[in-house]
Order: sequence, then structure tokens, then C-alpha cells
Amino acid sequence: MKNPDDGRPAQGMTSPHGATSAQGDRTRLVVGGRRPDEHYGFVNTPVFHGSTVLYPTAEDYMARRSRYKYARRGTPTSEALETALAGIEGEACAGVALLPSGLAAISAALLSVLDAGDHVLVTDSAYDPTRTVCDTLLVRWGISTTYYDPAIGAGIAALMRPNTKAVFVEAPGSLSFEIQDIPAIAAAAHAHGAVVLMDNTWATPLYFRALDKGVDLSIQSGTKYIGGHSDLMFGCVAANQRTNKALRDTVFNMGLCVGPGDMHLAQRGLRTMAVRLAAHEAAALAVARWFEARPEVLRVLHPALPSHPGHALWRRDFTGSSGLFSVVFRPAPPAAMHAFLNALSLFGIGASWGGYESLAIPFDCTKIRTATKWAPGGPTIRFHIGLEDVADLIADLERGFAALNAASS
Ligand SMILES: *Cc1c(COP(=O)(O)O)cnc(C)c1O
Repeated sequence: MKNPDDGRPAQGMTSPHGATSAQGDRTRLVVGGRRPDEHYGFVNTPVFHGSTVLYPTAEDYMARRSRYKYARRGTPTSEALETALAGIEGEACAGVALLPSGLAAISAALLSVLDAGDHVLVTDSAYDPTRTVCDTLLVRWGISTTYYDPAIGAGIAALMRPNTKAVFVEAPGSLSFEIQDIPAIAAAAHAHGAVVLMDNTWATPLYFRALDKGVDLSIQSGTKYIGGHSDLMFGCVAANQRTNKALRDTVFNMGLCVGPGDMHLAQRGLRTMAVRLAAHEAAALAVARWFEARPEVLRVLHPALPSHPGHALWRRDFTGSSGLFSVVFRPAPPAAMHAFLNALSLFGIGASWGGYESLAIPFDCTKIRTATKWAPGGPTIRFHIGLEDVADLIADLERGFAALNAASS
């Protein structure tokens, strides 16, 4: 393999040099950021545990003549990961920042574009901790937030204030799975001079090319599908030319960097992300369709199902769906819903998702909405469909329904 790039940027940023624009995403995920010629032929970039970088002479040190300066500014390990991540963000990607969690990526991205006195518009369907950042940290920094209906589309123009500097989108919505018209929102934001940030954890750049759709900062919780094995906390932000420098400076000034072992896990997960995602997609669709036919189910909140109100937008803008969706059950007492969950053995009950294993959690968005009303018509459970056999998952869910029906009657 040819060495793709010698003009190395500092940690936090890189261009998609590890792959070429003619290659498909799967190829890019395999070749991105690898330099076997520099590492004695080893397929993977070694994990550099380091802080200090030594210079041969005082003159070299004074002129900072060195490919690496200090580990916080970048190591071969961080560069390899940034290059691999940038490779699937599209041609508009000017750099990728690595962060120690998805929430750190969200906070750093917001702080990189907002100053004291600014105003930000945030979708009412955002991941709840994102709201907490806006309602506490940003308030302390003198930044105000208005939450908006995720279905607002071009109507977002009416909410713009003179000091509105950013619009935060997330699609599908966390827990609730609304699809947003991101190109329309981005056009309105840009007409006002505001930047668009997106939490793209669900679709990943493989299924939604955020930077090509008008997003200026595309955020992922790498804890989910990049890691893929429930053993990693990680986050990343992809920037375009407009936002790259501010993001880089913010991440650097906050001293945020990722430990070498975690960068290794992220890189390792990334290599197989496309095939895992395709398997999650197929299995989740099969299980979602099976749920739709159950008499105990009111609605399935999965944007790739034709019954979903955001289906047409999803078809227009997304190229795939992942393994996470929610189900609205017909009204049943809490004890019956708990009986359903407690009867499952393949589905674990726990936060997070994106790993190889299936998960189920009860949720209620009533208290985390301020711009819209959450009234789904019955109790709700979010499912993550892992890599188990679909027939086994369905057999598990059938045991759950048996327990639910026994507890309801
Ligand atoms: C999990 C999650 C996050 C936060 O990621 P962490 O890595 O857990 O900090 C952000 N956004 C969404 C949509 C998530 O599901």
C-alpha cells in the first residue's frame, strides 16, 4: 500500500487521504489510515503509548522540526484513526476530531461555534443529555437555547433571531425516531448565517452523508456502531472547511484527547462497521415487521417502515437504517410491561446500543419535551437488534409477549 499522506496535521484533524474518492465505503473502511510500509509491514498501525517526543538537537527543538511534537497534538495512532474516519465522511470533510465520548463530542462541537450572547435552536427530539448541556453548561456561558418541533423543516426560518448562530438536528430522534428535513433546515440556517450541527449516531455517515446534506459539524457517539462491541467510550466530530479550525482549536484548548487503547478499539471496530451495520439493518427490519403484525402493538417507530410518518424523507435522504427502533404497545399496566422485559433472556436491559448484543429499555419522553407533546398512545420500549439469529430473538420476544399477556389478564 502506498503511503497516502506526508503532510501530517495535528491531532484532531485530518483529511480523507487514506482512501481515494473512487472507492466504495467498504474499501475505504478497510484501507483508511493504514501505513504498513511505515510499520515493518504490519497491517495495523501500532498503538503508540506516549507523551514526550524527543528531538535530536536543540536547534531541531527550537524550530519544532519533528513530525510529532507532543502526544496531545497527535500520534501515529490518532492520525490513523482520524484518516480512517474522515474517509467515510465524504469530500466535504476537512477534518475529524477525536473525543473521549459521544457527549464530549456534542459539547465540544457546540462550544466551538457558540459564543457568549449567542442563541441555538435544538430539536425537541434530541438525545436527553444534549438538552442538559444546553440547559446548564451553555446557560452558564451565556448561550440561550430554543427547542423546536423536529418536523419544522423550512419553517425553522421563523425561529431565527439576530443572534442565532447554530441549529442542532438529530434524525431519527432519540427514542422517538422522528425524521427531520435536514436539507431544508440547513438551507434556512445558512441563509441566516448559522451553522448546522447534527447528531448522526443512528445512521452513521455510511447511511447518511451529513456533510453532503448541509450539515457543518457531524457528530457520532463512537461508543455505538464504531466500537460495536460494548467495550468502548468514544466520540468524533467531522467538520467541513467552514467549521474545521474552530473545532480543532476548541478541542485542543480543552485538552481533550483519547487514550491509545481506546483509539485502537475504535479503529478495530471501524474496519468491520459496514458489514455489522448491514446485519443490524436486516435483522432490525425483520424484527420490526414482526412487531407490526403483533396484536399487542400499536405502532412501530422505525423510519424504514412505510407506516412511519418520516418514511418518505428517510427514503429521500438516507441510504440505510440501523439496528435501533422503538415500539408503542397497546395500553398495559407498568407491571405487565416489566413482565415483558423480565421474561426476555437474549435482550439485555441497559443503556447504550450499537454493540453485537440485543437490548431493550422502557422509556417515556413526556418529561423531556418542551416544544412538542409526547403522546404515543401506550407504553414504549426501545429495542436494539444485535447480531443474534433473528429466529432466536423472535422466540425470546414471544416469551415476553406471553408474560405480558399473563400479567395483563
Ligand atoms: C449514546 C448517545 C450519545 C452519547 O454518547 P456517549 O458515547 O455515551 O457519550 C449521543 N447521542 C446519541 C444519539 C446516543 O445514542
